[in-house]
Amino acid sequence: MYIKKQRLLTPGPTPLYPPALQAMMRADMHHRTEDFRKVYRACLADLKEVMGTSNDVLMFAASGTGAMDASVSNLFSKGDKVIVCVAGKFGERWADIVKAYGLDANVITVPYGHVVKPEQVERALQAEPATKGVFVQASETSTGAVHDVEAIGRAIAKTSAIFVVDAITGLGTMPLDIDGWGLDVVIGGSQKAFMVPPGLAFMSVSPKAWKLGDTSNLPHFYFNLKKEKKSGDAGESSWTPATAMILALGEALLYIKRIGMADLIKNAQMLAQATRAAAAKLGLEIFSTASPGSSVTAIKAPAGMDSGVIVKEFRDRFGSIIANGQGSMKGQIFRIAHLGYFDFADLFAMIACLEIILNANGHPVQYGTGVAAAQELYAQAAVKSLK
Ligand SMILES: *Cc1c(COP(=O)(O)O)cnc(C)c1O
Repeated sequence: MYIKKQRLLTPGPTPLYPPALQAMMRADMHHRTEDFRKVYRACLADLKEVMGTSNDVLMFAASGTGAMDASVSNLFSKGDKVIVCVAGKFGERWADIVKAYGLDANVITVPYGHVVKPEQVERALQAEPATKGVFVQASETSTGAVHDVEAIGRAIAKTSAIFVVDAITGLGTMPLDIDGWGLDVVIGGSQKAFMVPPGLAFMSVSPKAWKLGDTSNLPHFYFNLKKEKKSGDAGESSWTPATAMILALGEALLYIKRIGMADLIKNAQMLAQATRAAAAKLGLEIFSTASPGSSVTAIKAPAGMDSGVIVKEFRDRFGSIIANGQGSMKGQIFRIAHLGYFDFADLFAMIACLEIILNANGHPVQYGTGVAAAQELYAQAAVKSLK
């Protein structure tokens, strides 16, 4: 019997930043007081700063899907023609939401692991000039693939459609020039690269998106963007806020500002690159070879091995929680996360664990080969700066 520390290594929820957890203990605060308004204002301002946008930023007590839902119910109208890019389980969620609200969706679906090409969106926009919006995932967490939101944004900017981007695992793992690329609505969630527990969703809203929202006729009540904007300007939220979560996020945002968003992204990119190098050395294939992102790396289980075995053994042998594939990808892939509070020491350990698990389950590998590939990359890129 060995000690097994529980480690949460999934692409949401992600490892927690300890000072953010400690900040939650200050939650014996009333939300309609100047003390809390100070915290709330700082949180919104810091979110805006790390997202790097001049658009309005709003926050909700919800998981990320709450903000996805709100973007549809507040900005669109029944029967509106929209384009939905579906490259995985989260793209399917966009399709489900817009259908639930009675929008007229042109769903562009690509096989799992692939991404919708900017040209496909451009052609669909040309075919239907009345299109009111385009929905996409910046990073499709279920497959590890990333969309070229810059090029898609360029195509949309020429039209009257708005671009609604689920960047829930995109923020903090890939560059997103919200204002420069015409990303009208950008959605984030607390439990991804923001290093705090689930429970807060946020979104930026461009003037173009607000304008479309002026004509929206869909019912909504709790998630009311205009009301939330007005409340936010007064340093408050419309309803009782998730006070403890906001204190936590505020603390994590100070840390993210100290590192800098660019370096937080670089951290994820380096970890992802090292993971791909290690996988190659271990004879494992990456699931999305066309457009691998840096929030999470989806790796195919070796032929004849169920990825659920790898996930289970991570838990049983080492106390670590890693992600299986979702839906039909379950059993086929496992996913190693890089977003938020992950470091190289986490990755070295994860790869070392993986080598043991592979060996124990009929996929022999030489101990240390995967780890060495990651060490090599770290050594080349970071050892000189020693920080
Ligand atoms: C985690 C995630 C969501 C949000 O899911 P919730 O369970 O509502 O937080 C949405 N989109 C993507 C791409 C995600 O990774």
